[in-house]
Amino acid sequence: MIERAAIGAILGCAVGDAMGLPMEGMTPRRQARLFPSLEGHHFLFGRGMVSDDTEHTLMSAQALIQSGGDPELFAVLLARKLRWWLLALPSGAGPTTLRATARLWMGYPPGASAVWSASNGPAMRAPVIGAAFGADRALMARLVKASVTITNSDPRAFHGALACALAAAMAAETGTAKRVPARRFVDELGTLLAGEPAGEFMALMEHMAEAEREGIAVADFAASLGLSRRGPGGYIFHTAPAALYAWLANQWDVKNAVTQAIRLGGDTDTIAAITGAITAAGTGEEGIPSEWLERLFEWPRSVAHMKAVGRRLAQVSEAGKAGLPVHLFTPVLPLRNLFFLLVVLVHGLRRLAPPY
Ligand SMILES: [Mg+2]
Repeated sequence: MIERAAIGAILGCAVGDAMGLPMEGMTPRRQARLFPSLEGHHFLFGRGMVSDDTEHTLMSAQALIQSGGDPELFAVLLARKLRWWLLALPSGAGPTTLRATARLWMGYPPGASAVWSASNGPAMRAPVIGAAFGADRALMARLVKASVTITNSDPRAFHGALACALAAAMAAETGTAKRVPARRFVDELGTLLAGEPAGEFMALMEHMAEAEREGIAVADFAASLGLSRRGPGGYIFHTAPAALYAWLANQWDVKNAVTQAIRLGGDTDTIAAITGAITAAGTGEEGIPSEWLERLFEWPRSVAHMKAVGRRLAQVSEAGKAGLPVHLFTPVLPLRNLFFLLVVLVHGLRRLAPPY
């Protein structure tokens, strides 16, 4: 069960990230005009590539493997991976993550590198933690906190990230036999966040549970948060509820969950990556449209690499002891990232032209 969830969370993140990337930062209205169909990838001649969301998910998974789930060691290893990740010149990363990672290079330890910000980075790293280590909720919360505090010191970042991890844990436990009721999710989250100054986030979660009870559509829920014009941006109190609701409303349907998340506009790659990771933690790889996976154009972080990481992560979680990371051919990463950047620039130019 953990293997299914871990592989699902990684691959679900990758397809959501790749599908949402070409529309990142657009209003929902412009997106619908430029991309009327979301059946397949739009990044590069019908193929997709992944961004920081998937890279962070894979680095988190590898740090979990090497640490065996020890939160202190996990933080040290993840911080080290983030430092090297920065050197390979990634594009599309958020300013908070870049600043915190630069501070790691300046010699700040992982606990002191964080920036006061409630950005999305911690939420994109969270579902894989819940999928692999969610059975022990207290340990999961400590691992999420270890991940959050490398980049973000604002407690709101922890609240949003923990919710995304818990959702993946509950999706993984429930599988496709039953639905996770929003009420039960919000109650469990409230228990986990007891003692935290999480009143504002829990009010959002209550609002979300109410919307689910009334069967409100994903787009209407986002509108109720005031996000209909620009979509959820780089604020975790917008992104996490949007992604969680897209999952709650489409629990066994990765395709609908991801597509509806993208249609919200805004930070589409991150929202869809989180939604895809949570939803596919429940369905496993079988729930992901096979064409979305087959048409991922990635190397060295190929689909085979992602599956190997998920498999080993599950072994480590089940055995309760650390393992060796899955080999990644890193010397080629700067070249891959340069190619990726060129395609991103072409997309940027394309956006200058109509239809607006
Ligand atoms: Mg991204």
